[in-house]
Amino acid sequence: MAKYCSNCGTELKDDQDVCLNCGVAVKKENQSSDFFKDNDIDIVVLIVLAIIFLPAALIYVLYKMSKKKG
Ligand SMILES: [Zn+2]
Repeated sequence: MAKYCSNCGTELKDDQDVCLNCGVAVKKENQSSDFFKDNDIDIVVLIVLAIIFLPAALIYVLYKMSKKKG
């Protein structure tokens, strides 16, 4: 997996901890302390999708049921 320097954007090898271009220490991925922080947006997106999808699914089921009746 390629990763990029957060300071200068240089592509770094997976085992590189320091950017060879600018010397900035590269933040390692999959750090347990930052796991939730890194995935915070994904969790928010999932919650938003659930909030949108659940009423939509209910409306769809009710619509199907009302169509069957009539
Ligand atoms: Zn750099």
